[in-house]
Amino acid sequence: MTDPTPAGATSAAPPEAAAPAPVRFSTLPLDPKLLRAVADQGYESMTPIQAKAIPVVLAGRDVMGAAQTGTGKTAAFSLPLLHRMLKHENASMSPARHPVRALVLAPTRELADQVANNIKAYAQHSNLRVAVVFGGIDMKPQTEELRKGVEVLIATPGRLLDHIEAKNCVLNQVEYVVLDEADRMLDIGFLPDLQRILSYLPAQRQTLLFSATFSPEIRRLSQSYLQDPITVEVARPNATATNVEQRFYSVSDDDKRRAVLQLLKSRAITQALVFVNSKLGAARLARSFERDGLKTAALHGDKSQDERLKSLAAFKAGEVELLVATDVAARGLDIVDLPAVFNFDVPFNAEDYVHRIGRTGRAGASGLAITLVTRDDTRLVADIEKLIRQKTELEPLELETERPPRRQRRDWSDDSAEPRAPARAYSPPRVASPASDPFFDRPYEASSAEAAPAWETKAPAAAPRSVSPNIKPRRKVAALLGGSAAPAKTPA
Ligand code: AMP
Repeated sequence: MTDPTPAGATSAAPPEAAAPAPVRFSTLPLDPKLLRAVADQGYESMTPIQAKAIPVVLAGRDVMGAAQTGTGKTAAFSLPLLHRMLKHENASMSPARHPVRALVLAPTRELADQVANNIKAYAQHSNLRVAVVFGGIDMKPQTEELRKGVEVLIATPGRLLDHIEAKNCVLNQVEYVVLDEADRMLDIGFLPDLQRILSYLPAQRQTLLFSATFSPEIRRLSQSYLQDPITVEVARPNATATNVEQRFYSVSDDDKRRAVLQLLKSRAITQALVFVNSKLGAARLARSFERDGLKTAALHGDKSQDERLKSLAAFKAGEVELLVATDVAARGLDIVDLPAVFNFDVPFNAEDYVHRIGRTGRAGASGLAITLVTRDDTRLVADIEKLIRQKTELEPLELETERPPRRQRRDWSDDSAEPRAPARAYSPPRVASPASDPFFDRPYEASSAEAAPAWETKAPAAAPRSVSPNIKPRRKVAALLGGSAAPAKTPA
């Protein structure tokens, strides 16, 4: 679905100058309440997407935005929208005085939560109410918040439809719509849900669409739902950030874990996101790293929403050293100062490579992206080279032969275990030999045909829902993870 040529828009903003001078927020005709919130965040000058998009959105135009994640696009769309909505600001307690005026749709719970937190910060000095709804958690608190009235609603499509059906929110006064990570929403299979949601909205509205890539599907979406949009592009879609050092090491499958441990040590990496291709692989690898003495968490689609948010929060707070994740964490997540990303498995989809490594080197910081390549990965690496239009150099990795004894492992059953020191202070791990783990030596209890590999359930998304007949129910993955009998959760 990759198309490097952004199109589908009728007019375009002027091309980027070679090195545009930084423009300060104070030069914008934004309400002082918003400028104060921006200053609170410590932002001084605008990022390129902000400098381009904010004036266009303030002018009321529809926007088709091609911006890499980490470019500051949330502020690029939300600051001008908040400014335009301030005319409706009021301190009334009546829900009728706080109808939904801006709707932001995001593909995953994590992204929705992150976007909502940013918008809440930007709106903090106003009386505009901001709320987020996503699946996987109780609807009741969300319902209460919606019924009190909110002006800005951030939502994943599935849960929003649940609330619409339950008549918890009315969208007939929506003036602004943002489709964030639109390509991802289509990948997941949200098109029918999006079409349905958009059909509830007034035709007279301002619509903004952001996407990392402009595929033919995205262009069709834009043609159907945007009016005479301005294209705003700040980085070539599919481009990898130039401030990320990309290394490819040749290893065998059996040596991958030791390779990560050694590279953490030799490059003095304090924290890293480790991407794997399967949910089961993520759980298993996280446990292995934990045995190696690293504070590790796993993030994948079979974790409950609460677990996913907790893992992410702990990682962002630096309490977790390694976050082992599937591509659920590859897009849009903003982890400040993340020094490194490992591709423990080369992704099946080359676009995921771009998204994965985009988690490091954010907001201008430098980052390191290490990909472990086995002999079977040649074709996948060739796909990546084609996409990023760059030749990669496959380097050998000399692994230390000596294997020091394992560090004491934490007893997982002991909930009273002392929390360990924060990640920033950790000393590089020692290499442990692969050991058997009784947890994983237990007989595998697959339930019927449900134990499909993660890549076969790649378009997971919505749970079985009456409103989305086109979205297949997720297959449950065997009850191996944590021995829990909890049902598989939906990503949105
Ligand atoms: P986003 O692409 O919206 O996820 O933003 C990426 C990161 O950049 C977030 O941590 C923002 O808080 C940060 N950010 C956004 N705008 C600016 C700015 N103008 N100056 C510095 N940081 C920013």
